[in-house]
Amino acid sequence: MRHKVKGIVVREAAKGENDKLLTVLTGEEGVLTVSAPGVRKISATNLRSAQLFAYSDMLLYVKNGFYTLQESILHEDFYALREDVTEFALGCYLCELASAVSVGGEEGTEILRLLLNALYAAEKKLASPRVIKAAFEFRIAALIGYEPDLTECPICGKEADAIKNRMFELTDGYIFCGACENPEEGFTKRAKVSDACFAAMKHLLTVPVNKIFLFRLEETALAELSALTEDYLLLRVEKKLKTLDFLKKNL
Ligand SMILES: [Zn+2]
Repeated sequence: MRHKVKGIVVREAAKGENDKLLTVLTGEEGVLTVSAPGVRKISATNLRSAQLFAYSDMLLYVKNGFYTLQESILHEDFYALREDVTEFALGCYLCELASAVSVGGEEGTEILRLLLNALYAAEKKLASPRVIKAAFEFRIAALIGYEPDLTECPICGKEADAIKNRMFELTDGYIFCGACENPEEGFTKRAKVSDACFAAMKHLLTVPVNKIFLFRLEETALAELSALTEDYLLLRVEKKLKTLDFLKKNL
C-alpha cells in the first residue's frame, strides 16, 4: 500500500551499507520510523529528503506496519543549521522535544507547525537560540494541554498584572502573589517573575505561532524566563531529552 505524508526528519541513523533509518515527525500521524534504502549513495534520488531537518512530501510504501521511503519532494532542508554548533544543537533539541510529545492528530499538526517556525527562526537568525528555546518550551507545554493560568492569584483574586511580588507556581502553572503564600502549607516549586518576564510569558501564549520568537528581553529577564520555561516543561515531559545537555553546553 502506498501512503503520502508531509514530515520532517528528526533523527537519522545509518543502516547497512547504503541505507538509513529515519525518524520522521508528521502532523496528523505523529512520529513514524521510515526505512530509506539507498539514500547514502551520492546519486540517490531521495538523498536530500533523507537528511536531518529535511521537511518533505513523502510517498511511503507500507507493509506490515513498516514504512519505506519511495519518492520525495523536498520543501525545506534548514541546511544552515548545520553550519553552527549552537544552531545545530538547538535544532536537535527542538526536534527531539517535538517528537517526544507529539501524539499526532490536530495537536500534532500544531506541534509540527511550531517546530517548522522555530527552525525557520533559528536558521534566519530572527532571534537568539536562547529566546527560541524558551519560547518553544513554553508554547509547546501549552499546546500539549498545560497552558498556565496567568490571569490572577488564585488565593486572593488579585489580577496578575497588578501583583507586585509576582510568583509562578511551576507544578500547577499559575501566577500568585508572594504575600499570599502560607509557609505552613509547605513550599511548592515556584519562580519569581519580574514585569519583563511576565510580559514575555503572556506574549508566548497569545501571539500567532509565526510571531512568538519576535521579542527581546534584557539579560536578567531572559535568564529568568529561560530557567522558568525549562523547569515548567521538564515537569511535564516524562522522557529524558538527550539533546538538552548538549544544547546547554553550547548555548
Ligand atoms: Zn494573592
